[in-house]
Amino acid sequence: MKYKAIFIDIDDTLLDYIPCCREAFLAAMPEHPEYFDIFFQISGRLFSEAKHGLHTIADVMELYPKEFIATVGYPPEAVEPFKQSFRAAWGKTHVLVPEAKETLETLCKRGYRLFAASNSFGHLQRSRLAYAGLLPYFEDTYISMDIGYDKPDIRFYLEALRRSGLQPHEVLMVGDSMTTDVLGAQAAGLDTCYFCRQQETAPVHQVRTIARLSELLDIL
Ligand SMILES: [Mg+2]
Repeated sequence: MKYKAIFIDIDDTLLDYIPCCREAFLAAMPEHPEYFDIFFQISGRLFSEAKHGLHTIADVMELYPKEFIATVGYPPEAVEPFKQSFRAAWGKTHVLVPEAKETLETLCKRGYRLFAASNSFGHLQRSRLAYAGLLPYFEDTYISMDIGYDKPDIRFYLEALRRSGLQPHEVLMVGDSMTTDVLGAQAAGLDTCYFCRQQETAPVHQVRTIARLSELLDIL
């Protein structure tokens, strides 16, 4: 085997982000389902800015409920209850990306050590993986708010390597974000696999790209 271990992103790699987000939003604001698009646009912009270093993920977790509540004209006192309800519901969301479970199971059977590598709250991501039935496949979970650094910061990957006792050449990082998963891991010396579900997207040169998770089994 070329690699001993695989680091795998969670959102939009194993769990489908938009339906999970919609589910948590509807639980937190059942009276206004039509506000989801506003919420999603605000949180999406802030997370995208975080990928480029403008905020930490911890800041974004505080900023988007505030900005959303202000935008829809609720009073500031509504921020905290909305945020708490959203997080409580989010920790249970677990809509699977096709082939996620089967692929992890086969990788485990083949003897790969698996580690989750995600930007978020550790306890919420572990809870979601547990609800999805995926947590038992992972030897450990490296989540940015536990690790102390967000992907694509090279220190996130260096800390994950330190905790796992692995060398960069022993690990393949798999994820759907060119910025946080591919370029971040490459900077730390890891090989990478870009998971790009948009079939119409042109192949990305010089980056190993898969359109379905099970293709990972063919390239190892
Ligand atoms: Mg992702």
